[in-house]
Amino acid sequence: VASITVYGAPWCPDCRRAKQFLSEQRISYDWVDIDADPLGGAEFVREKNAGKQIIPTIVFEDGSFLVEPENAELAQKLGITMQAGRSHFDLIVIGGGPTGLTASMYAAREGIDALVIERSALGGNAGVTERVDNFPGFPDGISGAELAERFTEQARRYGVEMLSAVGVEGIRTDEDGCVEVTTGTGDVYTSRAAIVATGSSYRRLGVEGEDDLIGAGIHYCATCDGPFYKGASEVMVIGGGNSAIEEGLFLTRFSQKVVVVARGELTASALLREKVQDDPRFEIITDAEVDGFEKGDDGRLGSVTIHHSGETSVRHPAGVFVFIGLTPNTDFLSGRLDLDERGFVVTDPTFATSMPGVFAAGDCRAGSTKQMGSAAGEGITALLMARNHLERMGEVAAHVAS
Ligand SMILES: Cc1cc2nc3c(=O)[nH]c(=O)nc-3n(C[C@H](O)[C@H](O)[C@H](O)COP(=O)(O)OP(=O)(O)OC[C@H]3O[C@@H](n4cnc5c(N)ncnc54)[C@H](O)[C@@H]3O)c2cc1C
Repeated sequence: VASITVYGAPWCPDCRRAKQFLSEQRISYDWVDIDADPLGGAEFVREKNAGKQIIPTIVFEDGSFLVEPENAELAQKLGITMQAGRSHFDLIVIGGGPTGLTASMYAAREGIDALVIERSALGGNAGVTERVDNFPGFPDGISGAELAERFTEQARRYGVEMLSAVGVEGIRTDEDGCVEVTTGTGDVYTSRAAIVATGSSYRRLGVEGEDDLIGAGIHYCATCDGPFYKGASEVMVIGGGNSAIEEGLFLTRFSQKVVVVARGELTASALLREKVQDDPRFEIITDAEVDGFEKGDDGRLGSVTIHHSGETSVRHPAGVFVFIGLTPNTDFLSGRLDLDERGFVVTDPTFATSMPGVFAAGDCRAGSTKQMGSAAGEGITALLMARNHLERMGEVAAHVAS
């Protein structure tokens, strides 16, 4: 049973933001749509707000509540650490996914004093993966959430300082080779080396209606939002790669039917294709384009228009899950570090970027394999390379001596 209840409505952008924040932090909550709640959700909200209907109103286990909170306020309430105890470190790791957490754990073991700054929740994409069957050492597989928790726990055990719900917005080096990192909360941290481990995000379709309906019928993470569709007669998955099919299989736990819409043929592995091709719960539409999404009367997703075999058709799935690839989380590096044409960070064979003292590893790095095992491995390599850099600068020895 969730200990947090969010009272809101599907048309309310602040409700969507708050729900997204909680989902990103992997905090479970109950959702009460006050427009549709027969149990008096709207009256409850008015009662809490001196007669006014202000949403989201978020009620916590101890009965306390927040009204229209900013993410920072919500983070504070939830005990999330958003500020470090000091401002200078040997190493700053930007991004707390498998790459960053592995690098930071190795750093602590090497006596390198590291700060991890994570924009969302520690664990990165590992945390939103339903099941990981190919991470070495787990012969029976492991849930992504548990693996993310284990990465985080191991870094914590070594005393790594970690911030979450704090994004890095700027990075530069000064004439002495000191790296300066600025966060979205306005804090500035300095170090002698940094590792960029910001991974990648789900790509959006970029069609009409999409942005407006995110969280109100359009989703990018079945693990986070799939359970909202318990008992649905149909959900739609857009994309034909491994992630799309894996997430489609997961969605069959909730929805009677999963319609897969792929631009070309399915590109998922043969094993995954076999799993769905003759499964009566799946309808596969290939060579199709999504034209746009329309809002229903309730402000949620009403319909999806697709283009297929020269014809346009309109479908009415309860929800749509988009899995069409990854965009590197490197916008804040643009003009600072060399990026390739798709925005991935260019490194030399030692994972050094074009900015002295700054290394990059994992899913945000050009040429990386986008796998969790290699992400952890790249985190280790980047850390050892950063260590060499710190040694050359006399930083590690100075730190160990002090
Ligand atoms: C749905 C799905 C299923 C997958 N299944 C598997 C699988 O079964 N097996 C497998 O091996 N791999 C799988 N992967 C891939 C695997 O999750 C990634 O390869 C791995 O997580 C990459 O690790 P990373 O740390 O480089 O990046 P990420 O995991 O993406 O972590 C990067 C972190 O950096 C943070 N960040 C981004 N920008 C900033 C910023 N400006 N400031 C601070 N922090 C920032 C992000 O919030 C994120 O937490 C899957 C991926 C997805 C999306």
